[in-house]
Amino acid sequence: MRIVVQKFGGSSLSTVDHIRRVAERVAATRSLGPNVVVVVSAMGDTTDHLLGLMRALGTRVPPRELDALLATGEQVSTALLAAALQIIGCPARSFTGWQAGITTDRVAGKARIVAVDTARLRGALEAGWVPVVAGFQGISPDGDVTTLGRGGSDTTAVALAAVLQAEACEIFSDVEGVYTADPRVVSEARRIPIIAYDEMMEIAHLGAQVLQIRAVECAAMNGVTITARSTFTDGSGTRITSAEEMAKMRGGGFVESGAVARAVAHDRDVAKLALCGVPDRPGIAMRVFQALAERNVNVDMIIQSQSRDGKNDIAFTVAGDDLEAAREALEVVSAVVGADATLAAAGFGKVSLIGAGMASHPGVAGTMFAALAEEGINIDMISTSEIKISCLVEQGAIDRAVRSVHRAFGLDRPETGSA
Ligand code: ADP
Ligand code: ASP
Ligand code: MG
Repeated sequence: MRIVVQKFGGSSLSTVDHIRRVAERVAATRSLGPNVVVVVSAMGDTTDHLLGLMRALGTRVPPRELDALLATGEQVSTALLAAALQIIGCPARSFTGWQAGITTDRVAGKARIVAVDTARLRGALEAGWVPVVAGFQGISPDGDVTTLGRGGSDTTAVALAAVLQAEACEIFSDVEGVYTADPRVVSEARRIPIIAYDEMMEIAHLGAQVLQIRAVECAAMNGVTITARSTFTDGSGTRITSAEEMAKMRGGGFVESGAVARAVAHDRDVAKLALCGVPDRPGIAMRVFQALAERNVNVDMIIQSQSRDGKNDIAFTVAGDDLEAAREALEVVSAVVGADATLAAAGFGKVSLIGAGMASHPGVAGTMFAALAEEGINIDMISTSEIKISCLVEQGAIDRAVRSVHRAFGLDRPETGSA
């Protein structure tokens, strides 16, 4: 059976008119032959709105109830889109995550998909219906509703494409694919026609909202090629695929290494925490990061200072949303290890340059730091890997930082970044 998975994000479903347009797009694909499985997100900024309602009750939100609440957003979209399809004569049925057979682990708010029972979806396809599945949600082994983390509908789409062995997995949003920087921040940003999983994972991980990192990871693990496209235009978008597939598409042309600079990503909501004046002995870092892991907080940049008089400082960053959980963990550890002070502050952003070829090209970090210095932007923390350099800067300087780094590496020029 030929199957295409099409996922439509909140930006493509923000009004009933948008939902009608999406229905027409789905019906048009189906009329060309393949069976279509649709995955939807919540309409517009519904998820933020629901989150706001729960947070208005207080900061200690019960995770199980938050998941139950957030999952409703996607369900609204499934019913409306399935109805819109039926109204234009295209048979369709709505499915919640659990009706679609998506089982996850028990981690509320960041659940991982552990299995998909495709029986019901296959039955729907055989009956000639377009299944419209709620993204971002599943059911835990205890029968509780879970959600997959912000942007998680992308992961639902890739998981369904993998288990249904779909011939295509198309992720539609309000931009024409993956760009060399967020096109809303850098007007000269260029669409990247094709990109390998590893670079895309870094770009997604470093803040580019256009695809959830877990979706890219899941695609790489299961050999699913994703096409990121616009709901509103007919452009070819960006293919996210394996290095082997990219080599085939180049027609065998030899390249020694990847691009030095492929894209600039940013994250506007970073919090910085520090444990100051901790005794310089084994086991301290372990306690800090274990306490954070127990609260499901992901740590990003980490700096440990040189030891002075038998003491040092450990600073690290977390997502802005995790500030309170991280602060709590740090205070508990601080009391146990006898630190002089703890610091916890929101208000930072991170700008990152990604390029698989940067490791073998000296001077990349220097060029990036010079670009920021010329704009008078102070660098608070730095972290590097073989394929990225990230700088923590003040939140208010993020847009200028992204534009200056993008310009410094010539990413606005057609010949750059296209290796
Ligand atoms: P959806 O609601 O469809 O899931 P998202 O808002 O999650 O869409 O993702 C699309 C947005 O991602 C775009 O509007 C764009 O501002 C942002 N974005 C950030 N970085 C990039 C990038 N490098 N390329 C394309 N879009 C990006
Ligand atoms: N609606 C969820 C969110 O806003 C999931 C998604 O859009 O993919 O994060
Ligand atoms: Mg999204």
